Amino acid sequence: MINIAIDGPSGSGKSTVANVLAEKLGYIHVDTGALYRAVGLFVKRSGIAPDDESAVVSLLSDIDLRLVFEDGEQKVMLNGENVNGLIRTAEISAFASRVSAIPAVRSFLLDLQREIARTNNIIMDGRDIGTVILPDATVKFFMTASDEARAERRFAELAAKGEKTTPEEVRAAMEKRDRQDSTRAVAPAVPAEDAIFIDNSGPFDQTLEKILSIIKEKTK
Ligand code: C5P
Repeated sequence: MINIAIDGPSGSGKSTVANVLAEKLGYIHVDTGALYRAVGLFVKRSGIAPDDESAVVSLLSDIDLRLVFEDGEQKVMLNGENVNGLIRTAEISAFASRVSAIPAVRSFLLDLQREIARTNNIIMDGRDIGTVILPDATVKFFMTASDEARAERRFAELAAKGEKTTPEEVRAAMEKRDRQDSTRAVAPAVPAEDAIFIDNSGPFDQTLEKILSIIKEKTK
């Protein structure tokens, strides 16, 4: 199977690029952030603080999480409920980042991710795909973009969903989340040693072309 890993900080454009790549190549796009977001949603609904490690860990046995792929779209099923429409808020972003620092949460989600990669050609985006989940991935990318470009993207996404926020708020929350994600003890969001760096501050088509040509080269 061909496994393409794309890691990088929030707002770097991983998901958008991965989506288009998957369509062009006929692979499945696996957005792993959605899994942490779904756990974050469950924790929030349970009224538990996302950094209360023992309480979060004791909830895990109540969670049945599955990914379903239909017409190129990933659906996150949380105990049978499609939660796609509920997990892209600023509040759930913060919950996801908190719960993702808990080692038991990470190991809870590990097999699910590896199993999809074992049985499908995939483009998987996240924070630890190249370092932890798929250390033998066919190609690993680490995507970055300027702070301005990342904050603008996030703001546009949230504003399009009708969230009341400001570019400054979005930037502050994003920086906080990136700091948490890259400095946590387990599976910090850092580039794999053999990752190819991609700067996605410029035009989307340029990034896409560059990545596509690298994938073609590595898979021929
Ligand atoms: O990619 P996205 O912004 O949806 O991810 C939400 C949060 O989930 C991240 O801030 C990070 O804390 C966590 N995450 C992770 N490992 C991944 C994907 C996401 O820790 N592979």
